[in-house]
Amino acid sequence: MTTTVLARKYRPASFEAMVGQGHVVQALSNALTQQRLHHAYLFTGTRGVGKTTVSRILAKSLNCTGPDGQGGITATPCGRCQPCRDIDTGRFVDYVELDAASNRGVDEISQLLEQAVYKPVVGRFKVYMIDEVHMLSNTAFNAMLKTLEEPPEYLKFVLATTDPQKVPVTVLSRCLQFNLRPMAAQTVQLHLAQVLDHEGIAHDPGALRLLARAARGSMRDAMSLADQAIAFGGGALQEDAVRHMLGSVDRQHVQRIIEAVAAGDGAGLVAAVDALRELGLSAAGTLEDLASGLQRMAVLQAVPGMAQSMDETDPDGQTWAQLAPLLAPDETQLFYSLCLQGRAELALAPDEYSGLLMLLLRLLAFKPGGGSPKAEGSVAPRTATEPRSVAVMEARVGQRAPVAATTSLPAVSSAPASATPVQAGQPSHAPWEDAAPSHSEVQPEVVDASAVSAATSPAEAWESGPPPGFDKGWGHEAATTPTAAPPRAEMQAPAPGLGASSSKVSPATGVPAMAMSRLLAELPPDPLSDRWADLVTQMQSRGLVTALVRELALQSQCVAQRDEPHQSVWQLQVPRDSLRGEMHKERLTHAMAQVLGCEVRLDVSLGEAVNTPAQRDLAAREARQHAAEALIEGDALVRSLLAQFPGARVVPGSIVPL
Ligand SMILES: [Zn+2]
Repeated sequence: MTTTVLARKYRPASFEAMVGQGHVVQALSNALTQQRLHHAYLFTGTRGVGKTTVSRILAKSLNCTGPDGQGGITATPCGRCQPCRDIDTGRFVDYVELDAASNRGVDEISQLLEQAVYKPVVGRFKVYMIDEVHMLSNTAFNAMLKTLEEPPEYLKFVLATTDPQKVPVTVLSRCLQFNLRPMAAQTVQLHLAQVLDHEGIAHDPGALRLLARAARGSMRDAMSLADQAIAFGGGALQEDAVRHMLGSVDRQHVQRIIEAVAAGDGAGLVAAVDALRELGLSAAGTLEDLASGLQRMAVLQAVPGMAQSMDETDPDGQTWAQLAPLLAPDETQLFYSLCLQGRAELALAPDEYSGLLMLLLRLLAFKPGGGSPKAEGSVAPRTATEPRSVAVMEARVGQRAPVAATTSLPAVSSAPASATPVQAGQPSHAPWEDAAPSHSEVQPEVVDASAVSAATSPAEAWESGPPPGFDKGWGHEAATTPTAAPPRAEMQAPAPGLGASSSKVSPATGVPAMAMSRLLAELPPDPLSDRWADLVTQMQSRGLVTALVRELALQSQCVAQRDEPHQSVWQLQVPRDSLRGEMHKERLTHAMAQVLGCEVRLDVSLGEAVNTPAQRDLAAREARQHAAEALIEGDALVRSLLAQFPGARVVPGSIVPL
């Protein structure tokens, strides 16, 4: 069985049999029926859409004599008279097909045109069909033009081209032009099913769907592929075999990938790519199938009713209907675009699977919370070379599921302290940097729950009741997890007695928007607090304070200090009694003595604590946040994304300095 059997056998022999080109067929049929004949036709369209087929049917229509030999020009050639049969078999002397791609010279055209002066030998009309006419040389065009300008009555030109732009205007203007469209995959699939039914060849819908899609609008290609697949599958068309032949990917793989991306599951993506590699399935095919699936998801998201009207026998359709709600429409659009663009990258990657994996991880990185613990722990631990900041972009159509954009912002991480508007004399090392390097990587969302629960369930939050003048919402985490490092909720919670604006918390992140840095900036210069913060930094950097001792240090305000001959006397004030345990105080005293190099006497009293190291920490982070937001907003990539996706915006508070 050769690869052109089906295509040749099922080449349409009449206009009625032509599939997917109704507009051309109707125009030509009308012209033939009404005898309004033009002398030159130009058919344009990509390969395999039926240009040559239309030309042959047209030649038959012009020359058909009918079964009884009495017929005239017709839109429905009989297919049984001598001219019809000869044209179908390529033996009709007055129908000449010339392929300009292989006969480019003026000689062939000249010879053809020389013949034009002679009347048809057997037919009513001579029909010259010149395929890929744009390939003719200029001289050949000129030679043809003379005949085109004053053609004999009996001569019809049919020109065909895949590239009408290259056909001279002088030629175009003398032709009646028809554009043959690439056929919809569904049309091709339907036609394939009819042909195979007629041939008695077993086939399943999934196989035909794959073939139809691979044919990219060309019925001829679809037929050739079907021929190949029949040979490949031993006489039947089954989805698995066709998939294998085309190198396309089982939709289950694609489904798994989309689910993993939606779930932010980095390990799932790695496993999916490993599976593809093991099965030898094409990475490029995977991306194509992903793009195709995302496209269907986008349609389902935009037109939810489509899910009901879909072909129930189409398992793909059900798959996409199930997947569609997993992503927001804007995410779907972004991922689609990434998949299309990613195909070009595969060739540049060390191997196509690593290229594919990188691309899939990029999808993950572009999801909100792309640095989620699950993804980070399993596959993508952040390193210094990775993006320094993450911003969440949101389109108005999909408020619930923002899309993250990443960008490189080295300035944010390299100069956090200098970007801080906290007053002069602040510690050269912010206290959190050495002892808690992971702090700045924690998503602000982490704070939300505890801050909210502290505010809503005070009974649970307070063991001994809030100290006087102390705002609720403070210290819930420390109360329930006494051994933890200073919890973020605490460090970010409003300071007691610092006014109403300090509790103004962004609903998106739980981070007070610049509240702490503003409040601290309003305080008068306070060398005592500066000195205390500096001392705490030194103790932290030497690892002298941990757990609750560090907590005590960070939450304290130094209200008095004096140096006596043999000892340094410090008076600290803390906002809650639980921090005043004797053991903590002793350890802190010891740590201070080590740094100061002298005896230390420490007195810790209960009271409002302002300008504490913890509050300075928060203020500094606010300032870094502010700087990161400014950088993100000014970033070229972010701007181009905003420009590309109308309605998109950077979600306030979603930018995370890393
Ligand atoms: Zn006929």
